[in-house]
Amino acid sequence: MKTSVTADVLRERVERFVGAYAARTGERAIWRPPLLATAEADGRFAALPRMAAPDHLLPAELLAGARSVVVFFVPFKATLAAENHAGKLPCRQWGLAYESTNRLINALSAELKTLLQARGHGCALTPATHNFDPQRLVARWSHKHLGYLAGLGRFGVNAQFITPSGCAGRLGSLVTTAVLGDSPLVAAKELCLYKTGHTCLKCVARCPVQAVGIEGIDRRRCWQRLNFNLDRGGTLTGLEKTTHVCGKCQVNLPCSLGVPLPV
Ligand code: SF4
Ligand code: SF4
Repeated sequence: MKTSVTADVLRERVERFVGAYAARTGERAIWRPPLLATAEADGRFAALPRMAAPDHLLPAELLAGARSVVVFFVPFKATLAAENHAGKLPCRQWGLAYESTNRLINALSAELKTLLQARGHGCALTPATHNFDPQRLVARWSHKHLGYLAGLGRFGVNAQFITPSGCAGRLGSLVTTAVLGDSPLVAAKELCLYKTGHTCLKCVARCPVQAVGIEGIDRRRCWQRLNFNLDRGGTLTGLEKTTHVCGKCQVNLPCSLGVPLPV
């Protein structure tokens, strides 16, 4: 038998899960309270192949009968963001944070799936990362684009995803047959300073390989840098083979920890 689930029920669960995760697992406590938005899996998502990648999956291709998309953001604490500021290479803690946040996102996604299934609803998950085409460097399931459509945040010039808690953090998403409706957190069309006519472009200046420009990000150049950081940078030695990180365009910026627009 099905019992109803709401976006607020999911929010309460993710907040509790993330809040208790570090103490429960022994991981370093590097996360602020998570954010979550839901959207009806309607015609808006038909824009994904145009917005993200021609072969981007639609919710119904991930799960037959999908009725809702759920996207969540786990923001990093300011202390971690500050640690990654200095120099042109990511600090080791940033790499470790990437790995531990992937574990958290996968565990959190499984927790939400269990909750939904216990109430009689179908659910399909995707991995926290590396769900992209290695040749074209675009995701066939883009958490950022889903977050955009669900109103969880907006894109910055640097292609990072600015949420009400900033862009320093990680995203996860799932689809479900539960009817959750729309529960966006952002109504504004843009949250980036530059895109709203203000002076900024600090993210452009921060990139060590000039992969960020006012037209967006050069994915290939960025990917080359992430591989360099992992294989030859020195700070990530011994970390997992998928720890492709940099994060210089995520930290110490006006949009790193919150919405940068003047009020
Ligand atoms: S650093 Fe400035 S220009 Fe770049 S994404 Fe953030 S707000 Fe926009
Ligand atoms: S992640 Fe690093 S290399 Fe990639 S665009 Fe941002 S600052 Fe540049």
